[in-house]
Amino acid sequence: MIVFKHISDLKKHLKSIQEKGISIAFVPTMGALHQGHISLINAANKENNLLVSSIFVNPTQFNDPSDFEKYPKTLENDIRLLEQANCAILFLPETEEIYPSGLENHFNYALGYIETILEGQYRSGHFQGVCQVVHRLLNIVEPDTLYLGQKDYQQCMIIQKMIELTQLNIKVAIGATLRESDGLAMSSRNMRLTEADRKTAPKIFETLNWMMAQKHHLQPKEICTNATNQLIDAGFVPDYAAICDAATLKPIDRFSDNIKPVYLIAASLNNIRLIDNIVEPN
Ligand code: AMP
Repeated sequence: MIVFKHISDLKKHLKSIQEKGISIAFVPTMGALHQGHISLINAANKENNLLVSSIFVNPTQFNDPSDFEKYPKTLENDIRLLEQANCAILFLPETEEIYPSGLENHFNYALGYIETILEGQYRSGHFQGVCQVVHRLLNIVEPDTLYLGQKDYQQCMIIQKMIELTQLNIKVAIGATLRESDGLAMSSRNMRLTEADRKTAPKIFETLNWMMAQKHHLQPKEICTNATNQLIDAGFVPDYAAICDAATLKPIDRFSDNIKPVYLIAASLNNIRLIDNIVEPN
């Protein structure tokens, strides 16, 4: 694996590859890698000739400074995992490389409705920060296909919208959520959970499945209220338990045959905020 820290070196290297018409896949990450990230790397490697990954903990997408400061950093292990997964290129920039004119006063993406709900409601400015960094990374790497995880369902929609707005000619591939054996969605934040909270955390996936199983018994609003109470009883501080149209993220008031629901939860255990979702199978 070749590691690049500077945009100019990476671009020079990629130019010769792009000129040969080799298809490039890109998997951006914030490091603290786990098998969920590696599943994206594996899919990207299988479907493309060359794989570029990046590790960059993006300051502009953290609305909570302490969450940014405490974000886990495991670079040595990350490099080992990427090498084992046959990642060809790792881009490992410093903040100044991505934000040469500082962290303030960036372009505002007209993301509309999908930025205002769920994560957008609880993490002000988060998705603008996500768009800034991903847009910048896409302009640097110029991949054919960008690989994202369904674990961050709303983020996938936001990035697709940003790609549409900026008219980038890049395909998006979305990988399934990888889970621990007890159902907990793999996440870099899981390593910050206490032993007791780690035992409680799978309740999120359990609750999502409970929500989906209630479709023919309760109305969406009742399901969400009940799910929120279940999370509180288990010791979480929930931000939301929601049922939305998987295509638009508009809340579902009534189930109907022509709307596919996505069930989403965000909830914290001792200030470690976890998110997860499941989409109703076809
Ligand atoms: P992050 O490092 O958290 O920014 O995640 C980098 C990419 O990995 C994003 O596209 C995530 O959606 C994806 N990802 C994170 N967790 C998982 C998981 N458990 N399964 C599959 N993909 C994931």
